[in-house]
Amino acid sequence: MMDIKENISLAKHTTFKIGGPAKYFCIARNKEDLIKAVKKAKELKMTFFILGKGSNVLASDKGYNGLVIKIENCKLKIENCNIHAEAGVKLEDIVKLSDKKSLTGMEWAAGIPGTVGGAVYGNTQAFDVKMSDIIKSVEIFDTKTLKIKNLLKKKCQFLAKKSIFKKNKNLIILSAILNLKKGNRKEIKKEIEERLNYRKKNHPWRFPSAGSVFVNKTGGPPSAHLIEKCGLKGTKVGGAKVSEKHAGFIVNTGKAKA
Ligand SMILES: Cc1cc2nc3c(=O)[nH]c(=O)nc-3n(C[C@H](O)[C@H](O)[C@H](O)COP(=O)(O)OP(=O)(O)OC[C@H]3O[C@@H](n4cnc5c(N)ncnc54)[C@H](O)[C@@H]3O)c2cc1C
Repeated sequence: MMDIKENISLAKHTTFKIGGPAKYFCIARNKEDLIKAVKKAKELKMTFFILGKGSNVLASDKGYNGLVIKIENCKLKIENCNIHAEAGVKLEDIVKLSDKKSLTGMEWAAGIPGTVGGAVYGNTQAFDVKMSDIIKSVEIFDTKTLKIKNLLKKKCQFLAKKSIFKKNKNLIILSAILNLKKGNRKEIKKEIEERLNYRKKNHPWRFPSAGSVFVNKTGGPPSAHLIEKCGLKGTKVGGAKVSEKHAGFIVNTGKAKA
């Protein structure tokens, strides 16, 4: 049975650790709960927001005047080289599973704190690999028609940091099939370690953040490089600071506001 709570702090559900209260808040642990929550919100003519791990979200201090549905459906299984992952599965868990099963293609995601739903929505990328590179299909719930559908990758309109899900807010990601390849476990492990070490060395992981927040649209030098060249590293507004370690990150030094 799904519990709908009132006045839940969003700061506790975002990696920025910023955000006022959600008027209503629930956790959907399976697709039936999720569909029930959406139908209830629609019936009450209430706005709703789908939240994954909250690692790519900046919530207002004013909070959210509607229902926040946190996705925690976490079923994960492997069939040959295909990983079937529900939207609430953490990327980290897929990295671990693919390592264990000697499957390659997911190493780039080591250290990214999001869920499958959030990664499909924003076509999360790192080290020149995008989520869409490994997606075979996405199962969605259309809140307009109240129907469940499967979208093949080509229907998802993936581009860098873009997808159909960013354009059409009626589509909620329920699960995805990821296609990996058989690999060498030693090499997979080595790459995962390298990715994690890179993040540890170059990213401000001690502070709350939402990762690197700028998109490089020009094809020129990375945004972080340009920000650094402008001498903005360490610039602070209230408790929000351009990280001294990586200029693409804005970190919350304690009391940042939104
Ligand atoms: C330390 C750190 C490092 C990071 N490194 C990277 C990186 O290297 N590359 C990168 O691209 N990002 C990075 N990020 C950002 C973030 O982790 C990813 O974009 C992640 O995939 C977002 O997933 P999430 O579950 O946290 O999504 P959330 O932040 O919860 O949601 C993001 C958006 O997706 C929508 N959404 C979430 N789930 C669903 C769903 N099931 N159906 C429909 N919409 C949904 C939400 O409504 C919201 O609009 C980093 C963040 C941090 C804090």
